Amino acid sequence: MLYLTVGTGIGGGCIAGGRLLHGLLHPEMGHVRVPRVDAGPGICHAHGDCLEGLASGPAIAARGGDYGLAAEYLGLAVQNYACVLSPRMILIGGGVMKHAGMLGMVRAAAKRYMNGYAPLPVIRAPKFGQRAGTFGALALAVRGGKV
Ligand SMILES: [Zn+2]
Repeated sequence: MLYLTVGTGIGGGCIAGGRLLHGLLHPEMGHVRVPRVDAGPGICHAHGDCLEGLASGPAIAARGGDYGLAAEYLGLAVQNYACVLSPRMILIGGGVMKHAGMLGMVRAAAKRYMNGYAPLPVIRAPKFGQRAGTFGALALAVRGGKV
């Protein structure tokens, strides 16, 4: 499964075979490139128009509050993550996802961009809502920092 948090930034993690994927460093899923569907600038200090630069909370604010456009970019990213990692489930949380209808818009965009090529994973909100980060930190502490 894969978890994405969409808030002041965009981050993500993936669990495969019961283990958190970790390599050279933690994954930087928010900084992937997605095809552009508009011409506006992105705000990432490093990349400009990476996913975080286009669909994070500050990016949405800088782009006139267009959550529909952010949902398009998140849907493109979800389609990419689904093709690369083939997770059974993608959980999407964070402050941006509290916007009414956002999860449905992301799910619809991902389905449209997948275009029937492969089944989409289940896409839903995290069970613990806005407390997911806190519970994740507690779970990590219980395991002595081992993931
Ligand atoms: Zn970036």
